[in-house]
Amino acid sequence: MKGKIFVVGIGPGSAEHLTQRARTALYEADVIVGYKTYVNLIKCIVGGKEIVSTGMTEEVERCKAAIELAENGKKVAVISSGDAGIYGMAGLIYELVANKGTVPDLRTSPRSVVESGLSPTLTVHDIEIIPGVSALNAAAAVLGAPLMHDFAAISLSDLLTPWEVIQKRIESAAMADFVICIYNPKSSGRVEQIRIARDLISRHRKPDTPVGIVKNAMRDGQKVLLTTLSDMLNHDIDMLTTIIIGNSTTYMVDSVMVTPRGYKIGEE
Ligand code: SAH
Repeated sequence: MKGKIFVVGIGPGSAEHLTQRARTALYEADVIVGYKTYVNLIKCIVGGKEIVSTGMTEEVERCKAAIELAENGKKVAVISSGDAGIYGMAGLIYELVANKGTVPDLRTSPRSVVESGLSPTLTVHDIEIIPGVSALNAAAAVLGAPLMHDFAAISLSDLLTPWEVIQKRIESAAMADFVICIYNPKSSGRVEQIRIARDLISRHRKPDTPVGIVKNAMRDGQKVLLTTLSDMLNHDIDMLTTIIIGNSTTYMVDSVMVTPRGYKIGEE
């Protein structure tokens, strides 16, 4: 009998921001698979369950382990912080399962399938993706309402994406006046990218553009800072931080960051 894979977005960290469906899936699962730090965030919920946890850069091994467990009949919860479909594990699980078993044949119709001839036990239909509150939602909420208009999410991690592509996206988003949410802004080995990103954005936005820097949003150690594009690099930024850079209309009022949607107020 084959099992099932839940790909669970556990939200930003605090138990209150875990969705009800994520919670029931974690209860339903026989095994929890995830990066150590994230497993620790939900330890109180998963109690004595079997846990497969690995380091940050072992995503492929982690997902393969989850698929193997599910093929052996286990219900497996693969966890990502925030939303599993946003720089998380959801896509990788699909890619691995699709290459192993039955995959939709997109050239004909979404309903017809092709067999890859490998191990057809687990299919994409045995995967359930459970959404979570992403870092951008959590960061926006603690800053005020900065995402009221069109925005772009950009990760500065160049492990899987060429830096030239990332730079092009940053400048295009800045040029098009999107509010910009920056994920993975800085790590110990990657310190220059955030400076380059800031400089690219500065070509199209004023120095006093509001910027929100949020570390550990909605979990222990939360730090919220409102600053400006010209000043943002003078503050603590690391891998636990999400940065939201306002568009040309974003403003700060009473220590909150607001991007107007365009409603007319104060007019009859
Ligand atoms: N799937 C996750 C993102 C994983 S990428 C999500 O949807 O949120 C990892 C990056 O997410 C971090 O480098 C950081 O930029 C951001 N991040 C994740 N959790 C965060 C939190 N609680 N507070 C601030 N930023 C966070």
